[in-house]
Amino acid sequence: MQKNISLLGSTGSIGIQTLQVVDMFPDRFKIVSIAASGSKIELLEEQIIKYKPKLVSVTSEESAKRLQTKYGSKHTKIVSGLDGLIEAAVIDDANIVVAAISGAAGLIPTLAAINNGKDIALANKETLVTAGSLVMNNVKLKGVRLLPVDSEHSAVFQCVVPEHVNTIESIILTASGGPLKDHSLSRLDSVTPNEALKHPNWSMGNKISIDSATLMNKGLEVIEAHWLFGMAYNRIEVVVHPQSIIHSMVRYKDGSILAHLGFPDMRIPIQYALTYPERWENKFKQLDFTAVGSLTFEKPDLRKFPSLQLAYDAGIEGGIKPTVLNAANEVAVEMFLRGKIRFLHIPMLVEKALEKSGQIADPSLEDILEVDKSTRIETENVFSKGLINE
Ligand code: NAD
Ligand code: MG
Repeated sequence: MQKNISLLGSTGSIGIQTLQVVDMFPDRFKIVSIAASGSKIELLEEQIIKYKPKLVSVTSEESAKRLQTKYGSKHTKIVSGLDGLIEAAVIDDANIVVAAISGAAGLIPTLAAINNGKDIALANKETLVTAGSLVMNNVKLKGVRLLPVDSEHSAVFQCVVPEHVNTIESIILTASGGPLKDHSLSRLDSVTPNEALKHPNWSMGNKISIDSATLMNKGLEVIEAHWLFGMAYNRIEVVVHPQSIIHSMVRYKDGSILAHLGFPDMRIPIQYALTYPERWENKFKQLDFTAVGSLTFEKPDLRKFPSLQLAYDAGIEGGIKPTVLNAANEVAVEMFLRGKIRFLHIPMLVEKALEKSGQIADPSLEDILEVDKSTRIETENVFSKGLINE
């Protein structure tokens, strides 16, 4: 059977790699809709020409009009704005929606897809961080599959033996440690965006690259794992493993640990999410253990990288706190990338936002959207009013 895919975030790192997987199986996958912000318009145009999707969504109305003039036809419709994004996510023809937008902007279209009964291949971890309870409730209610694309979660998903779920002791998420793992605290203070963007093992979008450098990415993944696998926070471990060969592990009560290994290539977890429950043969580079040599493990340094602890704390407090954590982090990362704050200001801004925020025990979607918005405004204000120490 042919699988019809709606690809949200088609011009990003995950989007491009998803299309590479699709290219390997042209008879088995079809792209029916794509959505992107429109910041890489030439790439989007190439994708429209190559994949001939029925629906294309871009953020600005102006870009949509221009694309409509060039590519619009009775076979291809161009839409814009949030309504357009939702239309791309719920398109009738799609069996599976790849959620690969970056940030909490992915929440609304992903929820719309779930509520329309679509299976989800989830890369967009911020959706689960900001609204985990809501998303998981809807997944259960609609009986759809939420298949992890994040390599750690795909690894855990594959190491969970269904008949032994009740004997899982803990989940062990591996972290590369990012490009700044061995920097001293004082060196971290003067790190430039370019240095922080240079990930040793993965080539990714800017936001997740900075998150990897602060270890916030691992923190977001802890919260993602909590929701995906229903695991208490004190049973989610993080270990730094710089080679990124073990993608994560599951520890069982009898002392057995199952690990998922492979060459660090996001196309592997993307393909598994798209072909699940099957495994299809591909031509990706295979892992050569003798070339790797050794696998090493370290404790994460929470003094240098406090974002990981902030995420654990926000996750344990629950309620609206992960929404605050995520929103403040998105703003802080953006400010760092624009050269407005220093690297170590990122966790400081997140901590300030968490301190200042109130609690909502069981937030509704409206609560989440409202707090996401107000946290963004307040985090920008903290900076512009000079409320963080230089
Ligand atoms: P990216 O920045 O490279 O791409 C983001 C994509 O989303 C782009 O196509 C962009 O146009 C689109 N987009 C952004 N905002 C949008 C909006 N408001 N409306 C419509 N489209 C919008 O990001 P990425 O690295 O591909 O990451 C995407 C998601 O996958 C993130 O949540 C990230 O944490 C997660 N993820 C990425 C990787 C990776 O290797 N890149 C690995 C694991 C998880
Ligand atoms: Mg990951």
